[in-house]
Amino acid sequence: MSQSVSSFPSELAFVPFVSVHDMMRLVNASGPEVFMADLAGYIEADFKRWQEFDKTPRVASHSPEGVIELMPTADAENYGFKYVNGHPKNMREGYQTVTAFGVLSSVANGYPILLTEMTVLTALRTAATSALVGRYLCPEGSEVMAMIGNGAQCEFQALAFRAICGINRLRLFDIDPAATRKAARNLTAQGFEVVACESAEVAVEGAQVVTTCTADKQYATILTDNMVGTGVHLNAIGGDCPGKTELHRDILLRSDIFVEYTPQTRIEGELQQLPEDHPVTELWQVMRGEATGRRDARQVTLFDSVGFAIEDFSALRFVHDRIQGSDYFENLDLLADPDDPRDLFGMLLRAKT
Ligand code: NAD
Repeated sequence: MSQSVSSFPSELAFVPFVSVHDMMRLVNASGPEVFMADLAGYIEADFKRWQEFDKTPRVASHSPEGVIELMPTADAENYGFKYVNGHPKNMREGYQTVTAFGVLSSVANGYPILLTEMTVLTALRTAATSALVGRYLCPEGSEVMAMIGNGAQCEFQALAFRAICGINRLRLFDIDPAATRKAARNLTAQGFEVVACESAEVAVEGAQVVTTCTADKQYATILTDNMVGTGVHLNAIGGDCPGKTELHRDILLRSDIFVEYTPQTRIEGELQQLPEDHPVTELWQVMRGEATGRRDARQVTLFDSVGFAIEDFSALRFVHDRIQGSDYFENLDLLADPDDPRDLFGMLLRAKT
């Protein structure tokens, strides 16, 4: 049965809540590829109006095992934030490395208008962003993508690159062969041509696009300089925290580096390996036609992805629009709603009887 979702600004006391179960129903209704292609449209539209947003590097609380972060942003109408963790050791203990949930609110009255799971949604928005960026930066005629790190994000990345960039051939590598077997099984069933490789060196052979999506809380070297040929596009996802990178510094020195939001990427991205004044291009500039993306066929381009709050805002906005008139949510009794707004205590007393 369909329900109505509170509007912008919120007029109802109930807050629509999208559970993991409902998110999966919502994504499967169109299929993940259509979902991510449509979501990429929202992300691109929001990046093109970059100046309208309040922006800040995310607020991170680090521990030896991982990080917990809040990612806020707002435009004139809506405020959004995501709660997200990153704990590479979790996977070995049977937990997700990354889990998340998020809120979208009305700026006009401050009321939340959506609460949603964002673990699945983060994988979708990360992949949608990567592939959207790939549309601007992948070499022309790209057909083959190497994927180093075959964990939770892997299949989403592959599907988004097929939906948005037309890539259908994959070369997989993970230090854990069970992860590669899982990804190969899932992706073959989705119609990809998949080669499981015995090393990262072998995986990158003949690939025009290389995605690194590993999780390790250290300065790792997933790719060394000799592994990156001319003209390749690098989609570096896993280096997203201070002290957590994936690429050898020499690769950065011969790449044109594209970032989401420079102040955050300098703290968290591959960029933390370079001096503060190393030149980068922000993606919104490319999307607005104010900066060049790929210039020529020999250029190495690098998307130094860390994940930025506007992508989550776009995802929240997208889900809020998608659930209108659907049954992909339930109404949460999250907001106190006394008849007299000043009589909050009276409401409490009446509840006793
Ligand atoms: P996951 O733990 O499910 O998978 C990570 C995989 O990397 C594992 O299968 C592991 O065996 C493999 N791996 C670790 N070290 C490796 C190495 N040296 N070579 C090859 N494979 C290696 O994690 P996930 O949810 O897929 O996330 C992957 C990474 O992406 C994490 O670091 C996470 O923080 C990051 N991430 C970034 C964004 C973003 O917006 N940039 C969004 C989500 C996740």
